[in-house]
Amino acid sequence: MDKVPHALQQHLQQLGLQFSERLRQELPQLAQQAKQLLEVDESERERLLQNLRDQLHRLAGSAGTFGFAQLGQQARELEQQAERCLERLLRQHQNLNEFISALQELGEQPAIASAPQEPSDRKPKQPRNEDGSRHIYILEGEAAVGENMRQTLNNFGYHAEHFNSIAGLDAALQQRLPDALIIDAKLPDEASCGLEYANQLRARLEEPLPLLVLTDQQDDFATQLQAVRAGAMGLFSKPVDIPQLESRLERCFTQQSGEPYRVLIADDDQDLASRYSLVLRDAGMLVEVLHDPAQIFNHLRDFNPEVILLDVNMPDCTGPELAQIIRCNDDWLRIPIIYLSAETDFGKQMNALIKAGDDFVSKPISDNALVATVFSRAQRARLLSDALARDSLTGLLKHGDIKEQVAIELERALRSGDRASVVMLDIDHFKRVNDEHGHAAGDNVIRALANLLRQRLRRVDSLGRYGGEEFLAVLPDCTPQQAKLIVDEIRQRFAELHFIADGGEFSCTLSAGIAGTDLHSDADQLRERADRALYAAKHSGRNQVQVAE
Ligand code: GH3
Ligand code: MG
Ligand code: MG
Repeated sequence: MDKVPHALQQHLQQLGLQFSERLRQELPQLAQQAKQLLEVDESERERLLQNLRDQLHRLAGSAGTFGFAQLGQQARELEQQAERCLERLLRQHQNLNEFISALQELGEQPAIASAPQEPSDRKPKQPRNEDGSRHIYILEGEAAVGENMRQTLNNFGYHAEHFNSIAGLDAALQQRLPDALIIDAKLPDEASCGLEYANQLRARLEEPLPLLVLTDQQDDFATQLQAVRAGAMGLFSKPVDIPQLESRLERCFTQQSGEPYRVLIADDDQDLASRYSLVLRDAGMLVEVLHDPAQIFNHLRDFNPEVILLDVNMPDCTGPELAQIIRCNDDWLRIPIIYLSAETDFGKQMNALIKAGDDFVSKPISDNALVATVFSRAQRARLLSDALARDSLTGLLKHGDIKEQVAIELERALRSGDRASVVMLDIDHFKRVNDEHGHAAGDNVIRALANLLRQRLRRVDSLGRYGGEEFLAVLPDCTPQQAKLIVDEIRQRFAELHFIADGGEFSCTLSAGIAGTDLHSDADQLRERADRALYAAKHSGRNQVQVAE
């Protein structure tokens, strides 16, 4: 079968060839050095043995990655043998002789023509359909429930479709893949349950879709387990709190499509560092290689990595030493450090971890395992650092940051001559929501409005939680009249959302004030004008949007 070579495969092949070339020179050199072991005096022999051990250590770590698994294994055994020889250099000539002849044999391997086929075990990615809004498929047997969910998600700005049966959903999936799936665990008219179908689907698809599961029972462990096995990222019991479900969807997408993860690699083996870079870059990450350990803080500052991969044995400064240097500085505490090393001695691994560092991965590591290790660490690191930087309830900018953003946008607008608008929003009679339905229900409303705003505003717009149930947004390149149309639509959508709480179902409204930039107002004055317009909206009966004079 004629296949177009994948760009990555070509690069990997090239690196493989480069590595074979290196082997062609290195192996005979090793054999040569082995011969020298017999010819030199004892102190020189010790130095030579240490040198050989270090070279074999590197070879053991790299050969497997480039597809020379057997060679890697041989190198590892020889490394251990070298270690033993070193330990008992004077008394154990027998050992040394064995080591020398084994090493000479290694050097006399038939010429290595090229890298073996396909050291990579990664599959090329399947492209996915892409257009503006996110597509969500809902499989829900109860028509009213499914329809309500579809409408509400559309209010949030998604493109949701509802299916009553597995057959309907299946036909739609043949046409196009959605960005997420919502599936009812039990379908009244179906032979197989929704989760069984989700399981089959997972096996069928190249990449799993974000999956949320609906269930009739709360805290039913068997269903929870089955849902997780089907790949669920959220489980919601009926009646479903749709804003909460939307919030989870949002989180799935943020995890999926955020900025690429940034990874810093420090490995004295240049070929390996290049290979790791290629593999991680192909998985969509940004990679930098640290060549000079003394430059570590420059790299940290300029590149701001989210994960650091460290080799353990490096000539100028070992991995654990470098990790300790990083950990001495509070600014970089949040970055996970993973050792990638050919070290197999468990005690030494533990020693490295106790000094500093978070994880130990043994070389050779498969490409998929490398990507998974780095990805999971980076994902967690980003989640935590976002959680620290943003408002915990809504994930939006905090008070100080959104105020700063208003000032930045105002300056930009003044420079460019474009108009920008500042919007102040406040939920109406919010105290009542808390009083009648409880604080948790109130929190849910705040989160729903935050998500609605995030969905409906543009990427260039900035949005923050200004106070309790008050939001501040700045819309660049947007006149107050244009802003009014956008915010008024959000107002209507918000009023259509239904919330569920112990006290029953309820809905809320909001009021908003808008002020446009002009040549005379600074950021504080602009915000005050928007605030006065909001006050006017409240006074004129709430549930409306007013533009400042
Ligand atoms: P108005 O229509 O005039 O805005 O009336 P209101 O009741 O919304 O306004 P007010 O500012 O008097 O009350 C806001 C309430 O919001 C008071 C406070 O307890 C509540 N609140 C503030 N922050 C939070 C929060 O994070 N969660 C919840 N649940 N309630 C909050
Ligand atoms: Mg209010
Ligand atoms: Mg208020």
